[in-house]
Amino acid sequence: MVDSDHRLNQIVEKLREREYRLTPQRLAVLKILAASHGHPSVERIFEQVRMDFPTTSLATVYKTVSLVKELGEVLELGFSDDSNRYDGNKPYPHPHLVCTQCKKIIDPDLASLHHMTEELEQETGFRIVNHRLDFFGICPDCRNINS
Ligand SMILES: [Zn+2]
Ligand SMILES: [Zn+2]
Repeated sequence: MVDSDHRLNQIVEKLREREYRLTPQRLAVLKILAASHGHPSVERIFEQVRMDFPTTSLATVYKTVSLVKELGEVLELGFSDDSNRYDGNKPYPHPHLVCTQCKKIIDPDLASLHHMTEELEQETGFRIVNHRLDFFGICPDCRNINS
């Protein structure tokens, strides 16, 4: 996994280049995005930022997240029946493993998945520019509770 301090610096640099103002609230949102533990939703980021900055509005968090998205520094995972989730640690397309019970999202790290794009290109002649690959299931924590 990419070091989250390093990721934070990369995102901060991008915002500085465009001369965006870095308020403490904005920086707090960026920190959470850079770490992206569990691929948080905007609501989840909002809850976390409010612990340190109680006056932060949900609109501020939304604006900051969409700004970072515009800059291509966060990957948005859209779900039809749930809030969008965000990965600022790995802003490029990659497979996800989603628990349908606790909604936890993790990044599976399988060599076979890394080679899939290349194989597909060779096989089909497509130039692949993007992909969505989500695996849905029940995580070990949720399975233990139920057994
Ligand atoms: Zn679970
Ligand atoms: Zn991810």
